[in-house]
Amino acid sequence: MDRKQELLRRLPGVDSLLLAIEEKGLAADMPRGLVVRCVRDVLERLRHEILGADDANNGLLPDSEDSILEMVRNAMERAMKFNLKHVINATGVVIHTNMGRSLLPEKAVEHLIRVSTRYSNLEFDLAGGVRGSRYTAVEDILLELTGAEAAMVVNNNAGAVFLALDTLARGSEVIVSRGQLVEIGGSFRIPDVMGASGADLVEVGTTNRTHPADYERAITERTSLLLKVHTSNYSVVGFTCQVATEDLVTLANRFDVPVMEDLGSGSLVDFSRYGLTKEPTIEEAVKAGVDVLTFSGDKMLGGPQAGIILGKRVFIERIRKNPMNRALRIDKMTLAALEATLRIYRDMQDAISSIPTLRMLTLRKQAITRRGKRLKKGLDKWNEDRLKVFLLDGSSRVGGGAMPLQDLPTTLVGIEIEKVSANALEEFMRGYDPPVIGRIENDRFLIDLRTVQKGEERIIENCLRSALQDLQPGREEMVVD
Ligand SMILES: *Cc1c(COP(=O)(O)O)cnc(C)c1O
Repeated sequence: MDRKQELLRRLPGVDSLLLAIEEKGLAADMPRGLVVRCVRDVLERLRHEILGADDANNGLLPDSEDSILEMVRNAMERAMKFNLKHVINATGVVIHTNMGRSLLPEKAVEHLIRVSTRYSNLEFDLAGGVRGSRYTAVEDILLELTGAEAAMVVNNNAGAVFLALDTLARGSEVIVSRGQLVEIGGSFRIPDVMGASGADLVEVGTTNRTHPADYERAITERTSLLLKVHTSNYSVVGFTCQVATEDLVTLANRFDVPVMEDLGSGSLVDFSRYGLTKEPTIEEAVKAGVDVLTFSGDKMLGGPQAGIILGKRVFIERIRKNPMNRALRIDKMTLAALEATLRIYRDMQDAISSIPTLRMLTLRKQAITRRGKRLKKGLDKWNEDRLKVFLLDGSSRVGGGAMPLQDLPTTLVGIEIEKVSANALEEFMRGYDPPVIGRIENDRFLIDLRTVQKGEERIIENCLRSALQDLQPGREEMVVD
């Protein structure tokens, strides 16, 4: 106890630290308010640590003014850096939900900057000189690409599903197959969204099998919608059966009930042409006669975060007039990026090569192997005995809750540093600036170059150089801050 009091007493005061910082010119480049805040934070943290430390640890607490000044300097440097920042995704998960999903195509970024740094006709009808609608910017291209009658966009697909259900099914019944009561993650669950929108969920069929007759038996005067949900992130295999979209539409037409489909990812490309699993495209769902379709802008579409709603005009117009639309509306930057992304799809070849998500999804293994060999060759040239680099076969993932069973064959680069565990290496790389996020499999640290962008190999190399320097075997570091 006495020892703690003694340590507390020895801590310098705010003013004396500020003076020392000024004298040593440690914060010439920092805003004054930030310096004061960092000094206070560090002192607070030290007080906390002294009071919380057991006696054995007391000796490790910094007590010299210089070490405290260094902590303040580190705190200031951290505060000057953005919280949201560039990360290198070496996991091989293309639509990585935790790392920003889709990367915008260059054309989308150019258009976004052009439109958002200047005034625009966001809601101005240039022909008539009167107020216009923000949806006109993307509606025509969406109709052209999908064959739908009408389209609109909101903030994200969760919002799109909610808005559509709220408009079309509030106070009435929506029939869904038990095999499609999806939870997407981030607490988006179809039954909960349904509840929030005021629609009553009527579950039909069983987990693995649902037949047209199951829907038919459940239809009453209170039925407002048959809902089909894409089981994006899981797959029921074995003795299974879901009703085909065409058959659901035929049945719904007999009872004059609309069909809505939440496609989740939603794609304008038939990926089976590129060796991936066959998924119904948006165009095919429209052709099958679905009345209302919803999907994300930043999953397989490869654009900005957005929720796209399209289908028959009568329904889209009703959804557009829902007052909740205002709360979910898309902003101009997203709209600009989305319009530019969608336009690329007019030329499918261009789409595959210039929309990063599509490019990465369709990348051939040989191309990844070539890059892997190049990286390995460069690292081998260092002649570092402690560094071992090897190539091995593996698979990348689509991610974004899409195509959960799809294997994308890849070549992984394994990295081992003598006497450094895979976990320690992973942690070091994650803490690098910019962070390099790889994966650990069978106790090995692996890099999947499929999702590593052009020029980022250089950063990985620099990161590994620092790792070799900083991660010395047997050097247990006591990091106080
Ligand atoms: C991803 C997904 C959503 C949610 O879309 P967001 O764009 O993330 O809001 C809803 N439904 C399905 C089936 C999905 O896969």
